Amino acid sequence: MASFRGKTALVTGAAGGIGRSIVARLQAEGTTVMGVDLSAAEADHNVTGDLMCGDFCNGLPEHAVTTMGRLDFLVNNAGIITRGKITEATDEDFARSMAINVEAPFRLCRAAIPLMADAGGGAIVNVASCWGVHPGPNHPIYVSSKAAVASLTQCLGMDHAHQGIRVNAVCPNEVNTPMIRTGFATRGLDPEKAIEDLNASVPLGRIAEPDDIADVVLFLVSDQARYMCGALLEVNGGKPVQ
Ligand code: NAD
Repeated sequence: MASFRGKTALVTGAAGGIGRSIVARLQAEGTTVMGVDLSAAEADHNVTGDLMCGDFCNGLPEHAVTTMGRLDFLVNNAGIITRGKITEATDEDFARSMAINVEAPFRLCRAAIPLMADAGGGAIVNVASCWGVHPGPNHPIYVSSKAAVASLTQCLGMDHAHQGIRVNAVCPNEVNTPMIRTGFATRGLDPEKAIEDLNASVPLGRIAEPDDIADVVLFLVSDQARYMCGALLEVNGGKPVQ
């Protein structure tokens, strides 16, 4: 597709469940991808590093331009989930979640936008969560971090549209990735059985697979979404947040 061929993308969390799928689908459409994660991903260019490091985040968009010649798409996908009520949370839990889920996208957007503006435009997708739009129970740190990303998306979608930069978010509900599976394992549940039970709770009959989310990310960066700025697109199989 013309939206993707010869384009370049910077994708964070590229070695994770949803990230791998975003990288593979962009590559399949002809986009060159730089993947960022704690360990090497399977992108065209792999950068390993910790998004908690401010200088690392600040330098990534410029590094993408230097390496790939341009930066058309930025996908802020990396994230962590901190579970439990506020009374169980430590300062470190809060700081870590905010650093990875909010500060890293903030820094990456701040560094990428001037580069995209100079090049005539670009598209940014932040992977937020349905819980960032409709809070769910017992995850106040995660939910508030995703609400911050959702709000940042709406602000940037307004502020930079005039530069030809579209900023949108995809807001998944439950997705079959290590993030959700390790959560079940930590709570002493069998991940297979827990996912089967969750599948039954979704009107479409199953929780999302990573490709279900990646396809919406590709839509949002593509020319098909040319009039979308600051949208929070919920991808939930018909299941509202409960
Ligand atoms: P995942 O755990 O499979 O992948 C997340 C990736 O982010 C991992 O590869 C991890 O190494 C990377 N990462 C985490 N901290 C990092 C750091 N400090 N520096 C660099 N990389 C780091 O999770 P996923 O399910 O693929 O999640 C992707 C995104 O989707 C996250 O933002 C998550 O909050 C969001 N999301 C997931 C679900 C779900 O049910 N899985 C639901 C809604 C939203």
